[in-house]
Order: sequence, then structure tokens, then C-alpha cells
Amino acid sequence: MNEIPHYRTVSGPLVDPFGRHVTYLRVSVTDRCDFRCVYCMAENMSFLPKKDLLSLEELDRVCSAFVERGVRKIRLTGGEPLVRRNIMSLVESLSRHVRSGALDELTLTTNGSQLVRYAGELARHGVRRINVSVDTRDPVKFKAITRWGDLSKVEAGLAAAKHAGLAIKINAVALKGVNENEIEDLIRWAHGEGMDITLIETMPMGDIEGDRTDQYLPLSVVRARLMDRFTLDDIPYKTGGPARYVRVSETGSRLGFITPLTHNFCESCNRVRLTCTGTLYMCLGQEDAADLRGPLRASESNHLLDAAIDEAISRKPKGHDFIIDRRHNKPALSRHMSVTGG
Ligand code: SAM
Repeated sequence: MNEIPHYRTVSGPLVDPFGRHVTYLRVSVTDRCDFRCVYCMAENMSFLPKKDLLSLEELDRVCSAFVERGVRKIRLTGGEPLVRRNIMSLVESLSRHVRSGALDELTLTTNGSQLVRYAGELARHGVRRINVSVDTRDPVKFKAITRWGDLSKVEAGLAAAKHAGLAIKINAVALKGVNENEIEDLIRWAHGEGMDITLIETMPMGDIEGDRTDQYLPLSVVRARLMDRFTLDDIPYKTGGPARYVRVSETGSRLGFITPLTHNFCESCNRVRLTCTGTLYMCLGQEDAADLRGPLRASESNHLLDAAIDEAISRKPKGHDFIIDRRHNKPALSRHMSVTGG
């Protein structure tokens, strides 16, 4: 039998069948989390066995293969990325791509609970900007939403991140009857602290022991209400993600909207999602996926991995259709957001 030669067989940018360049890789480094947000997880979640996880070295290898193929931005997420043991060694090794100029950005999305410990190291390893999820500034409501979270720890984490020089964007999920009356205050607070803020609609992912139609608050409604209070000017600002931004004249700062349900943001989709077990999802809102762990482990060179990545990108779908209404109140997708990291 012919040996497969150990040279790179594939190169060049990753372009999907619709001509979209894949330049953004989101990596869920763990499905575990120290919070149990009501819209994200059930309280008694069963997590993946540790043996199924890619090692940090393997995650580095897959990320680096994507960087070689033109990915310019990597976001580490989860679960909670900062609860993965030794996560800073991955951040440190990936930072070489920032230093070389191959990556424009290495960033992460976090619930902020571990930032007191890690903010300084993140900044030293070339992370310049982070997203921190804060849905409310009321400590009692915060506990009710996150089940296990402690707002004072997150606030200390935000202070540590600021002190370390990290730019912060707050992500807040808009929840009917929970934080809908607080959204104006959240915007004033974030902007007053020099942070951007993005509002997110709930997406129907994973069984959460509840009815999602109770939580769903269309951002079109939120935006209309905010326009009674603020002047919102559309701006072309882009971070490589799906948010659309406005500038709030009264605060002078940016406000983003992520609206998978009221506005389909697929036409400009540039991203794919890797799970901690090496499964690649080509669309947040579809079940189709590709296994990269098999090809990664089958060879020390990257030729099988590269071929699997090419094959996966050739299957990237045009888009998704999330629907939440009374007739569709089961999850559109069985997997939780913690698997693919939002
Ligand atoms: N633990 C980190 C955090 O809290 O940011 C990263 C992972 S978390 C899954 C990423 C983001 O997804 C958070 O802002 C969270 O609020 C959001 N999220 C989780 N489940 C969601 C859902 N069903 N719909 C909309 N956003 C969701």
C-alpha cells in the first residue's frame, strides 16, 4: 500500500459553497461551567467524560491548523473557558499567532467568575478584549438567573480586567419579565464604565427544564422601547461577529444587537465552532457536524486533519431558522449552548 506522504496537501483560504470566507473560529474548550444559567443549562447537567476531551495540546494543533488556513480570529468559550484546568497554557501557546501577526485577535467569552485570578495573565498573553456575560446588576436576580453565580465576584473580575488593561464588552441576554426593565440601566452602567454592551435574544438550544416562550423577548421590542429613551444611530462597526451596532448619542458608546430570531444574520457568516471533543459545527443553528478528532489523532502530520476541515467547510449550510412560538416551544436543537459556546 502506498504511504501517504508527510507534506501539507492542502492550503489556501477556507471558502464555503456560498463564497463566504471562514476567518473566525470559536472554540468551546470545556462544556463545564460554574454557573447554571436558566436559559442555558438544566441544573442537573451531565457533562462529557474527561477522556473524550481533546487535550490542550490537541486544541492548539487544531486551532493552529485553522490559522494556517486563514482564520484571523479565535474566541475561546465554553461552558466556562476559565474553569478548564491549565487553560492559560493554551492561551499562552496560541498567543504566538498574535505575535507573528497571523491572528488579528485572540479573545474569550467568560462569565467573569475567575477573572480576578486570570485577567493579568490574559493581558500578558496578548488578549486585548474580552466579552463578559452579565444579565443583571441586581445580586438577587443574578443568583436567580445563574443559579450558582455570585455577582460580587463577577464585579471584582470586571475591575481586575479593567486594571489589566483589557477592553470589555458586556453580553446580556434579554429575558422577558426578568431583566427587561433593567436594560436601560445596564446600558448606562456599561457605557459609564467604558464598556460596550451587546444584547442577545434567547436561542432555542438544549433542554432547560422550562418553557422558552416564557423567556423570549424580541430585541425588536427592546430596541423600540430604548428609542423612547435614547437616540440610536446605526454604525458600520464590526467585530467579526454577528452583532449589529448602534451608537447611543446620550452616552457616546456602542450598543450591539444579536438577533438570530428576529433577523437572520447568516448571509455574512464567517465562523465555525469547534467543541472540546473535536467536533466541528459549521452552523450554530444546525445539527450537521464533522469529526476532527479522528483525523487529528490518526496522523502526526496535519494532512488528514486539513482534508477533514476542507470537507467540513464544503458542507457549511446557507443558514439556520430558529423559531420560538407556542407551537415550537421545544428546543430547535438538542445540544446546549455550552457545547458550542454561543
Ligand atoms: N461561560 C461563558 C459566558 O457566560 O459567557 C461562555 C459560554 S456562554 C454559553 C456564552 C454566551 O451564550 C453567554 O453570553 C450566555 O448568556 C449565552 N447563552 C447561553 N445560552 C443561550 C441561549 N439559549 N440563548 C441565547 N444566549 C445564550
